[in-house]
Amino acid sequence: MTSSVVPRHLSDKVFRRYHDIQSFLHSELGFPEPMSIEQWESIVKTYSGLPENFEAWVWSALKIPEQIALSPIPSYEPPTPDTSGDFFCNYYGCPKAYKNKQGWENHFNGEHLGFRVHCPDCDAVFKNPGSLPRHRRENCPMRKEAR
Ligand SMILES: [Zn+2]
Ligand SMILES: [Zn+2]
Repeated sequence: MTSSVVPRHLSDKVFRRYHDIQSFLHSELGFPEPMSIEQWESIVKTYSGLPENFEAWVWSALKIPEQIALSPIPSYEPPTPDTSGDFFCNYYGCPKAYKNKQGWENHFNGEHLGFRVHCPDCDAVFKNPGSLPRHRRENCPMRKEAR
């Protein structure tokens, strides 16, 4: 078994959409919470068709009717700054606020979508992509010795 045929950006995009829908169903109708990114990736790996058919396959594999999958209702709009310039997440009641969009994005991807950044050199995993450069420079066991 080789790695998935689904390109990473497509998998992430559909996961984001799935996550919006399932969070909506969870908060409005009491459906189960969305699966984690790890569970998602194990499902994506079982797909062997063409990338362009992947999204339709997901909805049928997860038994999400297409009229829900394609409906605009559950889609979540990224925050815009309020009068004090803060970005309030507001994702299904999330109260977190950030000083800039990047901060919110890191929070959203890490906390709500469960995305992780992997160090390419060792097994370290980070929630915040901003932590990686420092790790590689200062803490990575595989880092190049200072010259
Ligand atoms: Zn949030
Ligand atoms: Zn490392």
